[in-house]
Amino acid sequence: MKVGIDLGTTYSTVAKYDKQTSRPEIINNKFEKELTPSVICFLDNGEILIGEDAKDMQAGGAGTIAAAFKRGMGDNSYTVEAGGRVYTAEDLSAMLLKKLITDAEEKTGEKVDSVVITVPAYFNDFQRTATIRAGEACGVKVMKIINEPTAAAISYGYNREANKTVMVYDLGGGTFDVTLVKINKGNIQVLGTDGNHILGGKDWDAAIVKYVCENFAEDYGVDPRDDEPTKNELIVAAENYKKVLTKTDSVTIQIKYEGYSGKYTLTREQFDMRTQFLLNATKDVCMKLFSDLGVTWADVDEILLVGGSTRMPQITRFLESVSGKPVIDHADTDLAVAKGAAITSEFYCSTSTGVREVKISDVTAHSLGALAESPGGDRYVNEVMIKRNSKIPSSVRKPFRINPGNMTDSIDVYTLQGESRIPLDCYVLAKVAISGFYNYGDGAIIDVEYNYDDNGVVKVSAFQEGEPLIVDSEPVPGDISWMGGSPKDTVSTGPVSKNVVICIDLSRSMRNSLEEVKSAVRDFMTVAGTDENMKVGLVGFGDKVGVIRDMTPDSNTIVTALEGLKVNVYGRGTDGSPFSTAAMMMSNRPGGKMVIVLTDGIWGKRDFAVSEALNCKNSNIAIIGVGIGDADLGFLKQIATVEEGAIFTALDRLGETFSRIAAAIGTGSMGMRESAEGAARLRSAEIRGRLR
Ligand code: ADP
Ligand code: MG
Repeated sequence: MKVGIDLGTTYSTVAKYDKQTSRPEIINNKFEKELTPSVICFLDNGEILIGEDAKDMQAGGAGTIAAAFKRGMGDNSYTVEAGGRVYTAEDLSAMLLKKLITDAEEKTGEKVDSVVITVPAYFNDFQRTATIRAGEACGVKVMKIINEPTAAAISYGYNREANKTVMVYDLGGGTFDVTLVKINKGNIQVLGTDGNHILGGKDWDAAIVKYVCENFAEDYGVDPRDDEPTKNELIVAAENYKKVLTKTDSVTIQIKYEGYSGKYTLTREQFDMRTQFLLNATKDVCMKLFSDLGVTWADVDEILLVGGSTRMPQITRFLESVSGKPVIDHADTDLAVAKGAAITSEFYCSTSTGVREVKISDVTAHSLGALAESPGGDRYVNEVMIKRNSKIPSSVRKPFRINPGNMTDSIDVYTLQGESRIPLDCYVLAKVAISGFYNYGDGAIIDVEYNYDDNGVVKVSAFQEGEPLIVDSEPVPGDISWMGGSPKDTVSTGPVSKNVVICIDLSRSMRNSLEEVKSAVRDFMTVAGTDENMKVGLVGFGDKVGVIRDMTPDSNTIVTALEGLKVNVYGRGTDGSPFSTAAMMMSNRPGGKMVIVLTDGIWGKRDFAVSEALNCKNSNIAIIGVGIGDADLGFLKQIATVEEGAIFTALDRLGETFSRIAAAIGTGSMGMRESAEGAARLRSAEIRGRLR
């Protein structure tokens, strides 16, 4: 039997897909409950209680209690000591999983052999791997790890024809997550996800504590929050008062402290007002996700609520008022995640006929980068490899250059997770040592590849000239404070920074090709992207030469400049040569340099152009000549830095050609790299392979 398991912080749930009814069904625990507390109790006599029994003990205060251990997943410093043994969160999760599985087996009379386990979308590599290992420790196959909001969306969407964009709003006990999902006939496509992991139901509890304590302090001059035990009791009680306010309009709270006794009534209206700022905080997260994805409420069709805290009536009211969109009425707030996992366990990778297959495409919740040197070499930076909200599985390969003069035979790649450029603001996920490459101290290039698999687990591999290198996992050192310092005297690698000037023939003959040219350069920008390490400039030429846009790391600037492109502004013929202009634009800039010249005809001062091109060559600038229409391939070959840099293409394939050039530059295979002498050169074998 295959089951889906929602391995929750406070409660866990098991579900299976029922082929008879074609629906996911919850498998109740031994106590006929859908939810099993995620609690383990180690009794002094060596007995271990898990779930319901353990929760009972928790109230009584007997034995050693392990609860909310999901928060410690993947964190080796989180341990629980009991009966002379030390348990990690992974060990505890494995014990809980085993219990959930055996209960489900007893209940159904069937053996569980494969499971799908859900994790929060923001779970990182460590936490996912730890979850997989916990499952495997139970002797079952972990078919897949799936994100909780995605599971909820699957549960809602798998059986619906609707082509809809659904916002999954998940407000739990201590975390808030929002995920945008496109649901189309069993196709579940996650568009993006974001969250605030210090915002949750507990903040609503705290608002109640604050209300009563402030009132109490005003009446009696003492604040119950000053006494830790009283405060903790109040926090626990507040959660219950909060739940009462979900059902009724007001609650009366009695509190005794330092011989005084106060009684305060809190209406739901007051409660809602006092927690409005928390709702706004969830909205901020939604807005941030929207702006990342370039969408608005208009693009959202429905809102799906998940998580215990969304039971509060204020949530639905607030969301409907800010979005103008309906909140889906479903009773599965607690169960949708397990059900989605059950559906996934049945249909994922299944080719069975007669039933609808569920196709899931998910995204990464965090950007993933590598520790690198800043282009100036004065500090360490997080060089992003895979951007957040990228589709998974995904794979990105980027070239890194070993500093010239450094003869090392091994380099360390630290995998960083986070959005900041500053390494110490990120989470250091892993370290690998790469070896087996050639390095003559001449600035060897190593291509590092990151692979996010289906489960959101990342693998690092490395290549030199396409040949795989040796990659060994190593523990992340305890002290990484050096990442905040200067790389000057440590072995390090930096991303290859690149400069490209695109020179466009704007003589009169180009007028009929202009739209294709604009679109081709746009394609180039889309594929190349621009960031601190990739700068692009735009030059136009005819009889004369003009700079349309100076070097910029912002692709929008280039795209905007393209809009205004006109022929004839630089004269009618092609007497000018853009090479010296382009060279000037890139002079004094670090990194590789390239000029791409696009033309459709024969140049008036051809020899002048060829000698200018030669000057570029001597300044280590690579040149690619792209010809359309009446362009002369012989001339292109004369200006290109290598034979393969001369490309003649049909107008309708211009976009494709430019995209390929951009892609080749992006992976470093255009050879626009600083070599031993700092020379940019084209690697002919690769350019031939890629540009045809
Ligand atoms: P998590 O996934 O973080 O473990 P849950 O989704 O189980 O959390 O939600 C737990 C949160 O839901 C707690 O803060 C709890 O107080 C809150 N909650 C549960 N039921 C209700 C209710 N009826 N009214 C208001 N809040 C509730
Ligand atoms: Mg939850």
